[in-house]
Amino acid sequence: MSDAIADDLPSFRRELNSWLDDNEGELRLGHVGHPTLDEDLAQFTHIKRALFDAGWGRHGWPVAVGGLGGSSMLRAVVGEEIATRDLAEPGMWSMIEVLAPTVIAYGSPALIAEMIPPLLRGDETWCQGFSEPNTGSDLASLSCRATAVEGGWSVSGQKVWTSFAQFAERCVLLTRTGEPGSAHRGITALFVDVDSPGITARPIEIQNGTLEFCEVFFDDVFVPNERILGAVGQGWQVAMDVLPYERSTAFWHRGAYLHHRADQLIATVAGIAGADGAAAVDTGQARLLGEAFQAVMAFRCRSRATQHRLAGGGQLGAETSIDKILIATAEQTLFNAARDVLPGVIEFDDDAEAQRLRWEFLYSRAATIYGGTAEIQRNIVARRLLDLGSE
Ligand SMILES: Cc1cc2nc3c(=O)[nH]c(=O)nc-3n(C[C@H](O)[C@H](O)[C@H](O)COP(=O)(O)OP(=O)(O)OC[C@H]3O[C@@H](n4cnc5c(N)ncnc54)[C@H](O)[C@@H]3O)c2cc1C
Repeated sequence: MSDAIADDLPSFRRELNSWLDDNEGELRLGHVGHPTLDEDLAQFTHIKRALFDAGWGRHGWPVAVGGLGGSSMLRAVVGEEIATRDLAEPGMWSMIEVLAPTVIAYGSPALIAEMIPPLLRGDETWCQGFSEPNTGSDLASLSCRATAVEGGWSVSGQKVWTSFAQFAERCVLLTRTGEPGSAHRGITALFVDVDSPGITARPIEIQNGTLEFCEVFFDDVFVPNERILGAVGQGWQVAMDVLPYERSTAFWHRGAYLHHRADQLIATVAGIAGADGAAAVDTGQARLLGEAFQAVMAFRCRSRATQHRLAGGGQLGAETSIDKILIATAEQTLFNAARDVLPGVIEFDDDAEAQRLRWEFLYSRAATIYGGTAEIQRNIVARRLLDLGSE
């Protein structure tokens, strides 16, 4: 792939699709029924490695971290095509797209040159240790303590809802290094090896039956000074940079997946109506499907602008709360529509597609919680974008 083609998105997409067509058989690991979390992770690792080794997974990442350079739009295109072909569960991209840009921005050159390539190639999984039992929306109140010791820091405390921690090699961890009550000023971000002595990760089951996240305990865990991201006390800024990344390329991939699922749902309902000899999908079903499709497209239009802003060097900030509200709305509207236009399927059927819809319907409940709840996003829009006052 020449630089000229990598700069020309339609040609890049065409060449990528031709490679995907040629390699589709080897890219897909088999499974029976809806995949388990282990199977999803194995498939994602397999895809990342194949994409990296063929070069596709390196476009859009800086040369200094094993990438081939070029616009972040190239990453958006790769993830979109993978999601649309059902080659990887889209949520899995988030740990790369959210954490890698942050570590690149705040890690030392030596750290990022060592750590980012294995992540991009699928040799490692990372996790994000922000939330705690008493700290979610109010992140500045976190209490997991890092105390200065010879050569580094000793960490003790607890995190919770840490996605993929049981599989992870590294964790981007927010700790309290200032006095208790120092709020956002006393937070430091550390890049921690999850196999360090003193770390215990216990998986927790989420509503759809998957053991996606963990409670993670830190008992006097040593983290060397070279693993500070940014500076001591700069952790709040690191956290504020992480969240907008969460809402950029990773959301674009998820939006592409929702669009693909909306198309499939419409085809399924139209197929059933056709088989029954009905003239058309009935108006109630058509309205629900239309609303779902409209919600997905509203998100995609918004996200397209966000991708272009990011690729143009723009700093993402509070305005990405709009993206978060729109994607959560799209996801829940779509899978609510699936439940209503295919009565009983999500609740009672057990073929692979019903298992998948059930999994997706239940997971969509989390869309208004993870990465900042719907209420908090609306507060941000009201206060910071619409200037409606602090209360
Ligand atoms: C699937 C999933 C994956 C996750 N993965 C991770 C992860 O990898 N790493 C990580 O660190 N965390 C993760 N989380 C945790 C997530 O970030 C938190 O759940 C989220 O920030 C909300 O925090 P909380 O659960 O403590 O709820 P709380 O903050 O206790 O909120 C409870 C309720 O009160 C509302 N509320 C709180 N404050 C206000 C306010 N000021 N105004 C109005 N309403 C308010 C909230 O909207 C919510 O409805 C994940 C969560 C989910 C569901």
